[in-house]
Amino acid sequence: MPNNEPAPSPVIEIKGLHKAYGPLEVLKGISLSAPRGHVLSLIGSSGSGKSTLLRCCNLLEDSQQGDVIFEGEPVRWKGDGAARRPADRAQVTRFRTNLSMVFQQFNLWAHMTILQNVMEAPCTVLGQPAAEVEARARKLLDKVGIGDKADAWPAQLSGGQQQRAAIARALCMEPRALLFDEPTSALDPELQQEVVKVIKDLAGEHRTMLLVTHDMRLAADVSDHVVFLHKGLVEEEGPPAQIFGNPQTERLRQFLSASM
Ligand code: ADP
Ligand code: MG
Repeated sequence: MPNNEPAPSPVIEIKGLHKAYGPLEVLKGISLSAPRGHVLSLIGSSGSGKSTLLRCCNLLEDSQQGDVIFEGEPVRWKGDGAARRPADRAQVTRFRTNLSMVFQQFNLWAHMTILQNVMEAPCTVLGQPAAEVEARARKLLDKVGIGDKADAWPAQLSGGQQQRAAIARALCMEPRALLFDEPTSALDPELQQEVVKVIKDLAGEHRTMLLVTHDMRLAADVSDHVVFLHKGLVEEEGPPAQIFGNPQTERLRQFLSASM
C-alpha cells in the first residue's frame, strides 16, 4: 500500500488494555489497531499473552482497564477493575459474530457433520434461513478445498482438513475480521502448508485478520504489521521488513534467533 495514503479505518482497536488472572498480570497496557483489509500478526514467546489479547478482542475474556473498540464502537462496561464486565449483551454478540475466531485445536463439534458445523452459528446465532446458509457453506468448503467432505464427521478428516473446515465455519459468519490463534501449531509440518495456503489466499483478498502465529515465515509473508509481545507489553512493532529483517530490540533479536 503506498505510503502517502492514509491507513483505512480500524476494524479492531485496543487502547491501554490491562488484563489479570487473579494476581497474575498478563496484559499490562496494550494498544494496537487492525485497519480494514490489513493483516496484523502477533508474535512472542509462549506465555507472553498473545491468546489472552486475541480473546479480549472478541470479548471471550474480560479485561480490567482500557478500551476495546470494534469499527469505532467502544465496548460499554459496567463495574470497575476486577468487577468490570460488558454492560450490553447485544453488543457482546455483535462483537463475537463480527470477529470470528479460528482456534489452534479447531474446536469442531464432533457430533455434527462438517457441513452442519459450518452452518450452525449463522443459523442459530444470526437466524439466517438454512437454505441460504447451506449454499454459502458449500461454496466456502469448496473454497478451502474440502467440498467433498461436507457430509463427513470431523473425526474422519485430517488435522489440516479439520482446520480448513474451521476456517470455512468462521467465514460463514461473514465476519468483519478473522482472529487466528496459532492455526497451524497443532498440525504436522506437511499439513501446515494446506492451512497456510488458505490463510495466504484470505490475505490476498484483503480480509482483515489478526494472526497469532509461531510460524515466522507465514507472519513475514502475509503481515502488513507485526507486533512483538513480551511479558504483556508491546516490546517492538513495525512492518515485517523491520521486524524480521532489522529488529530494533535485543529481546526481539533473541526471540527470532530462537524461533527461525
Ligand atoms: P500465549 O498465548 O502468548 O502463550 P497466554 O495468553 O495463553 O499466552 O497466557 C499468558 C499468561 O496467562 C500465561 O502465564 C498463562 O499461564 C496465563 N493464563 C492464560 N489463561 C489463563 C487462565 N484462564 N487462568 C489463569 N492464567 C491464565
Ligand atoms: Mg497462545
